[in-house]
Amino acid sequence: MIFRHDQITVKFPETTTPDAKAAAAVQELLGGKFGEMSTLMNYTFQSFNFRGRSKLRPFYDLISNIAAEEYSHIEAVSYAINLLLSGTTTRADRNKPAKKGADPAPLKDQEDARISSHFLNSGQTALPMDSMGRFWTGENVFSSGNLKLDLLHNFFLECGARAGKIRVYESTDNPTARAAVGYLLVRGGVHVVAYAKALEVLTGANVGAILPIPDVSNKKFPEARKLEENEGLHTIMYHQSKDYTQLSKIWNGPHPEDGKPLVVTDELPKGYPAPDLDMEPQLAAPGDIDPGMLKYYADKL
Ligand code: MN
Ligand code: MN
Repeated sequence: MIFRHDQITVKFPETTTPDAKAAAAVQELLGGKFGEMSTLMNYTFQSFNFRGRSKLRPFYDLISNIAAEEYSHIEAVSYAINLLLSGTTTRADRNKPAKKGADPAPLKDQEDARISSHFLNSGQTALPMDSMGRFWTGENVFSSGNLKLDLLHNFFLECGARAGKIRVYESTDNPTARAAVGYLLVRGGVHVVAYAKALEVLTGANVGAILPIPDVSNKKFPEARKLEENEGLHTIMYHQSKDYTQLSKIWNGPHPEDGKPLVVTDELPKGYPAPDLDMEPQLAAPGDIDPGMLKYYADKL
């Protein structure tokens, strides 16, 4: 079972510039083929489906532990999208009657939005879809029943996810989007190394030698570099459960890139309060119900 902490792991900037295009780009990291929905559901199902776990316990613990961490990633990415969408349309004040001549189309600013569902099917919020507005699908889940194959898949998935993060970073300079991407690059980097090491333990192959994929260090991205240099976030595997006792059989030794020691900790990841965002009032457009119309029907009744 999962226990939730009502905190998010990404420290967002104090203020966010509304940015529907950046929100659409970040959707790729949530519901794209290589997004957080995919990593979450792949590892979750692989952990449920894991047979022979008494013999292969360290691998079961690792996959289960990373699955739990991915939950915090869909959470953080969703908040990034919500922050970016806040204020992208005209905001009416619900407590005041609509002004004469007020804009009768408060969503018009987003008539050409890349993802119209942000405005037409939700209250300007994150949805489980990619940057093209295609909904995430369970077809993205791979759970073969063969541990070596699943670990290879997971390694590939994390490397593909890393490429996606880098390209989203390149497609927007919005600091809120980049705060999320920087964090995910670091933690995704942990998962790349974790699956590489799991394959090494299982097979003896030197998978770490082919890192990084793509060939660029996280330290090139200022938001990621800060987390690696100040917090050592690229070396830490957080115990997501006290039951996963064998993580250190895989997560140990030097980090393949900078040689820093890999550590498993019982400490919680740093948490920050989840943003409490204003309501979006547009369902009442063009304003409050016309008092004349209300009186007409009240009299009729
Ligand atoms: Mn992730
Ligand atoms: Mn991951």
